[in-house]
Amino acid sequence: MTTDSASLPTVLLRPGEADRVVAGHPWIYHSSILRLTQPAADGAWVQVKDHRQRLLGVGFYNSKSKINVRVLAPERVPADPAFFRGRLEAAVAVRRRHLPEASAYRVVNAESDFLSGLVVDKYGEVLVVQTSALGMDQRKPLIVSALEDLFKPKAILERNDMATRKFEGLGEANGVLAGQLEGETVAELNGLKFHVNLAAGHKTGLYLDQQSNYRRVAEFARGGQVLDGFCFVGGFGLHAARAGAARVHFLDQSAEAVAAAQRNAAANGLAAPCSFEAANVFDWLKAQTATGPHEKVIPRFDLIVLDPPSFTRNRAAVPDALRGYKEIHLRALKLLRPGGVLATFCCSHHVDAVVFEEVILAAAFDARRLLRRVATYHQGLDHPILPVIPETEYLKGFAFELAR
Ligand code: SAH
Repeated sequence: MTTDSASLPTVLLRPGEADRVVAGHPWIYHSSILRLTQPAADGAWVQVKDHRQRLLGVGFYNSKSKINVRVLAPERVPADPAFFRGRLEAAVAVRRRHLPEASAYRVVNAESDFLSGLVVDKYGEVLVVQTSALGMDQRKPLIVSALEDLFKPKAILERNDMATRKFEGLGEANGVLAGQLEGETVAELNGLKFHVNLAAGHKTGLYLDQQSNYRRVAEFARGGQVLDGFCFVGGFGLHAARAGAARVHFLDQSAEAVAAAQRNAAANGLAAPCSFEAANVFDWLKAQTATGPHEKVIPRFDLIVLDPPSFTRNRAAVPDALRGYKEIHLRALKLLRPGGVLATFCCSHHVDAVVFEEVILAAAFDARRLLRRVATYHQGLDHPILPVIPETEYLKGFAFELAR
């Protein structure tokens, strides 16, 4: 591992390729590279210069990845303990500023925190680390030691079972990196308790990106009949129950997720208004909105939340995903009472807010409903969006009130 900047291998970019990097986008693809001044090992710290030899930054090199260089700093600094410590402190300061009350949040969100290839989530006293770039993976000991220093956590885990690691030449790795983890962890989001299985749950355990949206969506729940579609372990529904919903029905196709949602409801003393069902939301909505020749669907919900997984692994999957989105919105709108609210989310990189809203409006047209937009949602501020890096923006949502 080279940290002596004088001897750093230099990656020279082709003419015209520097501006993106200067603007702050950290990815350099093979096609942007003119040549290397000396061979660089995969994972090595390199400097990047434009074709006129002006320094653009330093970062990790990996010939195996489509992203040959991930730039981490615009100035010539070494990848030493002080560097990682400084980056982590800066990331923590952002969270303290924007989520001063939170005990569970994303500490580091990769590119958004100038640490491409690193994600760190905090669930109370347990930290979960994901390294999706070779250079970052090799520096895990430095990162773990800085995290221990900053947080004094009970345990630091790695959840490195993401499929994307293979594009970096990395295998899967799960386990405890520091400290000890006994049994299930209980994390608190907005004062509600959630049991999380950090060793095997979705993502690193919970959908932390929805934390502030749970609170905001719950504002529409008071006194009403609520459906939490794609509920996972119950984030939206439990916040709705706490906000005073008369009933909340939780739906997810994973029986395990539904069971966890039920446990979480009990743990928070919210079991009374809640009911749970393991079902495919598409089939369930279809069954609920199926009518005979002279029958009409009877709307019975005051708040419907739809927070499906991303149906689009790639661009080619977008048309099918949009058909799916339209169908569930059409059926959900038929089940919504006048004045009721549909809160709906899309976490696909490939479907932006404009396209997503168009699909909802197309569904509203078919259902002959008129919508009033009453809220827009984004990923939480612990998943910062840098507009110069479009990949950092993925979660969008709307709340629409049924105007007619
Ligand atoms: N709203 C949740 C996150 C939902 S993630 C939260 O805030 O925590 C998406 C969920 O949809 C997963 O739990 C997955 O099991 C579920 N799911 C995926 N496809 C589904 C389908 N067709 N019907 C029902 N649930 C589905």
